[in-house]
Amino acid sequence: MTELKWTDTQMRRFKELGIVPEDVPSEAVTPELRNQFFQQIEKKKIKAEKQKLDTFLSNGGRVGLEKLSETLTRELVRQGFVRVTTPLILSKSALARMTIDESHPLFRQIYWISEKKCLRPMLAPNLYSLMIDFSRVRKGVTRFFEIGPCFRKESDGARHNSEFTMLNLVEMGLPMADREDRIQELATLVAESAGLTDYEFETESSEVYGSTLDIVAGPEKIEVASGAMGPHPLDAAWGFTDTWVGIGFGMERLLMTANKSSTIGRWGKSLSFLDGISLKI
Ligand code: ATP
Ligand code: MG
Repeated sequence: MTELKWTDTQMRRFKELGIVPEDVPSEAVTPELRNQFFQQIEKKKIKAEKQKLDTFLSNGGRVGLEKLSETLTRELVRQGFVRVTTPLILSKSALARMTIDESHPLFRQIYWISEKKCLRPMLAPNLYSLMIDFSRVRKGVTRFFEIGPCFRKESDGARHNSEFTMLNLVEMGLPMADREDRIQELATLVAESAGLTDYEFETESSEVYGSTLDIVAGPEKIEVASGAMGPHPLDAAWGFTDTWVGIGFGMERLLMTANKSSTIGRWGKSLSFLDGISLKI
């Protein structure tokens, strides 16, 4: 006899409790046995989650996303980077300067809050603006980064949150010949500080965008970051002429892959999970 699958309701409950169904094969051949088995798993998990939540609430502290943010801030500041905080509200014209207009795929993912204002889908437009201001006052290498919320309408829930946290770092004014080594060095620093062990680089050279670098992690090769370097075709719209390297990391993707998890939901901002612990218990 073949083993009976979990029902849709049982699958939903597993998700709510942060259980991966593949980790708990039903093993039962009758509905009664399967339902009994389900109840045992649910009860055990609720007990464990209650205990974890109690310990977490008793000890004070920070959630994983905040801890990661602190660790990466410390490491980057140690390397001479300055942490900046820029507005969440972005103008339509700043988006257009990134060539994100009606014809761009990302345009359909934008949350508009008024006719000409939206919630930022990325940090790059604000960081470009700072690059120009910084280049007016100093020559040589300038390093800065932002860690903050970004918003995109997404349909794939396993790897995307509509509200997520991006870390975007920029190093500008470095020698042209150093850019490729440096971008890998910085990507490695962030990946290792975040606790990633199984990751690799995918470099591509595009005629339009020059050399790009993605970091993918785990056996499923989940994209955790995307990097680029300048001079870049977008620079002209901002009036920027110096060299730069930049990488944008998804903080929740870093947490999820460092914890060998296949879904992002538990790692982001949520009312269903706190620090990966289910609240629906
Ligand atoms: P994907 O193809 O996975 O949607 P993307 O190409 O849209 O990624 P980028 O625009 O390059 O992503 O953004 C840089 C990084 O931000 C990504 O490598 C990823 O780690 C993270 N990221 C992008 N969109 C999301 C999202 N909706 N939820 C969580 N992280 C995201
Ligand atoms: Mg995307």
